Amino acid sequence: MDFDLIIIGAGPGGRAAAEHAAALGLRTAVIEKAELGGACLNRGCMPAKALLHAAGQLAAIRASDSLGIRAADVEFDFDAVQRCKDEAVLNLRESMAQSFRTQKITVIAGCAQIVAPNAVCVGTERYTAEKLLVASGAAPACPQIPGLELPGVVTSDALLEPAGRDFGRLVIIGGGVIGVEFASIYRALGRAVTVLEAGTRLLPSMDRELSQSLAVLLKKRGVTTALGAKVERIEAVEGGLAVVYTGKQGAVCRAEGDGVLVAVGRRPCLDGLFAGALQPETLHGALVCDENFETSVKGIFAVGDVVAGNMQLAHVASAQGAAVAHQLAGKPVLTNLKCVPSCVYTDPEIASVGMTEEQAKAAWIALQVGKVPTAANGKSVIEHTERGFVKLIFRAEDEVLIGAQLMCARATDLIAAPALACANGMTRRQLLRAILPHPTFGESLAQAAQAARRR
Ligand code: NAD
Repeated sequence: MDFDLIIIGAGPGGRAAAEHAAALGLRTAVIEKAELGGACLNRGCMPAKALLHAAGQLAAIRASDSLGIRAADVEFDFDAVQRCKDEAVLNLRESMAQSFRTQKITVIAGCAQIVAPNAVCVGTERYTAEKLLVASGAAPACPQIPGLELPGVVTSDALLEPAGRDFGRLVIIGGGVIGVEFASIYRALGRAVTVLEAGTRLLPSMDRELSQSLAVLLKKRGVTTALGAKVERIEAVEGGLAVVYTGKQGAVCRAEGDGVLVAVGRRPCLDGLFAGALQPETLHGALVCDENFETSVKGIFAVGDVVAGNMQLAHVASAQGAAVAHQLAGKPVLTNLKCVPSCVYTDPEIASVGMTEEQAKAAWIALQVGKVPTAANGKSVIEHTERGFVKLIFRAEDEVLIGAQLMCARATDLIAAPALACANGMTRRQLLRAILPHPTFGESLAQAAQAARRR
């Protein structure tokens, strides 16, 4: 065999698997058809966060009047913002390539096809390995909407590619994570933004109170949102595009813009990956895996966005990639893979882990809930952080933390503490043992634990 492990895809899942496997002594190769880093580094998390950072800085400067700072005539240069984002992506990609070189991980450039449970072809070359790992990720899903082919209709890939795209008026189809993050970026840059969401609320998979608070904030900032919007078609009109949709009350409505972002989910990348009769079981186009990440073809494993039932998050892919490497090297897996935090980089940030109140109630779990508004937190008051809250959910029977939802400054960093507590089954009393520094945003966690009451 040429290798112990061949990994297809160098996104977060493939990278973590490769680095852990190499560190554990496995002869490892990674096959990648595009750039190292996958969607997260090149067309996802990293460029999006670079834009969000720039947009956030601009918004903060514009809002600084209330702090006594006069910053009249603030300008931003869209192309320079894009260059800064592209530089960050290049740096991160180079540091990944360097890490692979240091760890002697073989990188094979090209499009892989799995031809046998232990063989992969790239063009005319054939490579063999004891085990294969599919970490080929996902790409934006495109629904059946007439007019999708019109110029100016884009996915997040186009907005995040080098140089990016600017639209003075952006209509976003989909009020999920990508939709609300781009609404935040474009609105902060002063663009007109309309969000059309098919469901009854933004971020439908998250806590209801988070959705409601976000909707209020976006409205306050001038984002137009239509919920229960059934998109019928996109048309070219004078000066731009019109998205025609049926509204909640059944009326036919139009939202006009220069650009339309389609952000309605991502579909697994499996096209042409498996040759001939070698077709593992799939569910809705994603690979079905057992609890050890093995597909229905023995010896072929899969992690990340390409796996059925997975949350499509970079850190899920990384954790699973590391777990597979440990398993294959005969080492114990330390991570609790069931406890997954998820973050939305709006302003203020949103983060959650474990169960929401609704989910726990639907599972008939008796609860203690502690919720405090950020208005009760000194640091938030000083920094003029708008409407937000910290909510902790404990199982009433033993006071174990089973969920947390945060909407506040630095929520995406603060969620580390509840994630640690959830992953280790910690109780309310254990949370309250720690002294938290003052003044910090994190004090809200202790206040919420203190405030927990049966409900
Ligand atoms: P999503 O599933 O989060 O949201 C898609 C939204 O589109 C849903 O609210 C859905 O109801 C709506 N929708 C579907 N069809 C529609 C239609 N025809 N008209 C109007 N609305 C429609 O998907 P996404 O926002 O595209 O994100 C894709 C994946 O990438 C998600 O799994 C997400 O978690 C992940 N992601 C994560 C982050 C992060 O962690 N910060 C950032 C970006 C993306």
